Amino acid sequence: MSKFAWVTLTTNDTYSLGALVLAHSLKRAGTAHQLAVLVTPTVSEAMRIRLKDVYNVVQEVNVLDSQDAANLALLSRPELGVTFTKLHCWRLVQFEKCVFLDADTLVLQNVDELFEREELSAAPDVSWPDCFNSGVFVFRPSLDTFGKITEFAIKNGSFDGGDQGLLNQYFADWATADIKKHLPFVYNVTAYASYCYLPAFKQFRDKIKILHFAGKLKPWLIQFNSETKTAAVSSDYAHAQDLIQLWWNIFCDTVIESLS
Ligand code: UDP
Ligand code: MN
Repeated sequence: MSKFAWVTLTTNDTYSLGALVLAHSLKRAGTAHQLAVLVTPTVSEAMRIRLKDVYNVVQEVNVLDSQDAANLALLSRPELGVTFTKLHCWRLVQFEKCVFLDADTLVLQNVDELFEREELSAAPDVSWPDCFNSGVFVFRPSLDTFGKITEFAIKNGSFDGGDQGLLNQYFADWATADIKKHLPFVYNVTAYASYCYLPAFKQFRDKIKILHFAGKLKPWLIQFNSETKTAAVSSDYAHAQDLIQLWWNIFCDTVIESLS
């Protein structure tokens, strides 16, 4: 069994649809590594069974677990709850190295080479490229690191209130220390923001390895015609039409029947 794993997170049955499509996209791309998903108690039992079909590990994480000293300390900072949930990925110490992928990402090509990178490798964020986007990052599970980041979170909070701000504060030298930790943008192409630089999107379209539906318009929220099997993409997102359609094709081919 591989000591490497892809890791995602879902806190409800809707984001779980994203997690299911993501898992199938990884398998379709022929990954040799394991798949793990962190779920909170708010994910239904029925959905966990579906997740178990494709994920090697379905790990429940409980933000309010009183057995855990780090969690107890965090109770005094409830606004960091969701952020904290993502941090649980550092507790997957049965794996040597992992790549975290948001549940709203879609893997288009085999990206197993990401495991050659070290913690913390990530791609620049489109809005502020000296910060990395926390939707895709390489990390090394470690209880020690988990404790340190949690402690840091309690002390310093997060400048954007989310995990991206916190992780950028913690891994503060990412922008300058080691170019190998800068993943090329093709490993985390934010689908809608790419609209801002359409010629580049078109030029590098076939090189995109991981697409990220960051922002409010998640693919599962886009209107879908079940008769024609087409997603009704508004003209604002026309450049990403085929990629949104691909998300839905994978959903129809692999996820729908497991849900019924
Ligand atoms: N997430 C979740 N439930 C939520 C919000 C977020 O499970 O209600 C997880 C999920 O893995 C998601 C990630 O946290 O992909 C980050 O949130 P999101 O992708 O919505 O943020 P964005 O990329 O749009 O900034
Ligand atoms: Mn995301």
